[in-house]
Amino acid sequence: MLQPAAIDGLAFARDAAVLEGRLGMESLPRLAQSGCSGSILDFVLSGETNERGKQGLKLAVDGSVRLQCQRCLGILDLPVHLAAQLELASSEAEIMAADDDIERVVAGREMSVAALVEDEVLLALPMAPKHEQCGTAAGLRAKVAPSAFPALAALRKRSFSGG
Ligand SMILES: [Zn+2]
Repeated sequence: MLQPAAIDGLAFARDAAVLEGRLGMESLPRLAQSGCSGSILDFVLSGETNERGKQGLKLAVDGSVRLQCQRCLGILDLPVHLAAQLELASSEAEIMAADDDIERVVAGREMSVAALVEDEVLLALPMAPKHEQCGTAAGLRAKVAPSAFPALAALRKRSFSGG
């Protein structure tokens, strides 16, 4: 069955509807723009009336995105596991005026599911993604360096003591 690409936010929340699906790069153009070269993201979007009595959306995303390590420029597959709770607001102005930590999104009759997922993933991405330890997955260069250093040190020592 084909997934609907968009939801009517308030109706989706009121009905406590649930939508599950999987998104690939073709649905995530802004992730591509931010340097992501591949991704598969499974999501579960559910409508709710939250603890404040407001209509909202809950979104869980699991998967991974492929980025470039900013230290070694190798491929970095970053796991994505996030959960967000969004309250539906009637306008941008309402969101701007709110003085609390609640995450809001403007309710629409055709809210793009992919855009909702993309927003949350973009927020969660590190500014400068890096391997925890470069060279373990993509590090032929790293193998060369350690043996070169002792040789260089030995060379220096000889030239200093040679006088
Ligand atoms: Zn790296």
